[in-house]
Amino acid sequence: MIMAREFGCIKGCSDCCIVREYYPSIRFGKIGVLLLPDEVPLIEEQARLNGVAVKIVPRIAVGRDAPEKIIAYQMMGKNPDGDLCPFLAAESDARSPHGGFTCGIYENRPAACRAYPLVESEGTVKLDDHCKFCRELSTATADANSLRGEAEALKTIKEQVRVEDDSHNVWRYATATGRPEDIGRMLPEGWVMEE
Ligand code: SF4
Ligand code: SF4
Repeated sequence: MIMAREFGCIKGCSDCCIVREYYPSIRFGKIGVLLLPDEVPLIEEQARLNGVAVKIVPRIAVGRDAPEKIIAYQMMGKNPDGDLCPFLAAESDARSPHGGFTCGIYENRPAACRAYPLVESEGTVKLDDHCKFCRELSTATADANSLRGEAEALKTIKEQVRVEDDSHNVWRYATATGRPEDIGRMLPEGWVMEE
């Protein structure tokens, strides 16, 4: 029998604030934390208030022959290989309730952080299998009630990050960021039209 298990972070884990993935492939480099256009000035303000340096670059745009409208941005990790959110207090002794590192802007964190570990893939909402809790769910399902806040945040993202007009092309921003041994396999930083 499959049991529903309440979502809760694994003791001591901060993986989702540290480890960034190559997406959709190594060629595009590592992605940062997704930011909605409205969130960009808010995060820049939080960076200023907290004395943190952030690098924000575009993520997705639409346009016929060139990217005309940016529909999402991304905040890059602070390490040269693209890992480690600049707001994670990884050098502090402070710990979150589950024993992970603390987020310096927890109350003001982006919708993508509020939604995680719920993600949308090819039109389906699912648990991200990079999340340590989700990886450990091999014999159980997550209790939907324990993920209500995450579902609300994901809904906000889905409402704003969508391509409304099929006649437009989708453009993805290659970050050229990753491990030194992968740099030669990556596209130069900049826009690439999705095929
Ligand atoms: S959401 Fe998942 S990856 Fe992130 S800290 Fe919690 S258990 Fe770890
Ligand atoms: S903003 Fe906070 S919650 Fe989001 S990735 Fe950074 S440290 Fe983690």
